[in-house]
Amino acid sequence: MRVLLIGPPGAGKGTQSTRIAAHFDLTRIATGDLLREEVAGGSARGHTAQAYMDRGDLVPDDVVIAMTRERVVKANSKGGYILDGYPRTLAQAEAAYRWAKARGVPFDLALYFDIGTDELLARLAGRAREESRSDDAEETIRHRLEVFRAQTYPLLAHYERRGIVVRVDAVGPVDAITERILAALHWHKANALASGADRPEWAFGAAEE
Ligand code: ADP
Repeated sequence: MRVLLIGPPGAGKGTQSTRIAAHFDLTRIATGDLLREEVAGGSARGHTAQAYMDRGDLVPDDVVIAMTRERVVKANSKGGYILDGYPRTLAQAEAAYRWAKARGVPFDLALYFDIGTDELLARLAGRAREESRSDDAEETIRHRLEVFRAQTYPLLAHYERRGIVVRVDAVGPVDAITERILAALHWHKANALASGADRPEWAFGAAEE
């Protein structure tokens, strides 16, 4: 199974993707975590990324595309992955589509975390107090939400055109949300993915290509 997550900062993607990965034995690829590791390790890539991350801006596409590609290729040979935080721009989505097409392995599902701005601001303020992440200051949080609206939210329509979006109500107790997600994924695994085996693989992606 190859799943990607779309949701604003604070929607719970990290927590839920860790649980989904464990449940279905998938590799979790979280670009935010990978970038923070690059920053901590002092790599050239980390050096480039840091200023963008501190401001709450997206790191340039070429940096993230190269970093993620290595991981996806490896995870794909192991039976599947869940992408948390990638793709986050249409350019990244197109790059991902090209790799997938070259290998005949498209994404199966895009899980959209549905949640309102007020709830997000409250959650992110709480996380800022607990974790003191450099990008969780209030002004930066607002900026990250705007960046999500402008650059990442359009991916929802992009994947809706492909017919692979599953919407999840991301408000409520964490365990209840996990249950909703797992139920949806099990359903898709049993139904949509099983019959999808004989779909003309690239037929429904024609809109952008
Ligand atoms: P959140 O979902 O709370 O924004 P992440 O840990 O996913 O947190 O990401 C933190 C930061 O890492 C982002 O604000 C951005 O600067 C950078 N980042 C993560 N993924 C990407 C990506 N796919 N493209 C560009 N920048 C990214």
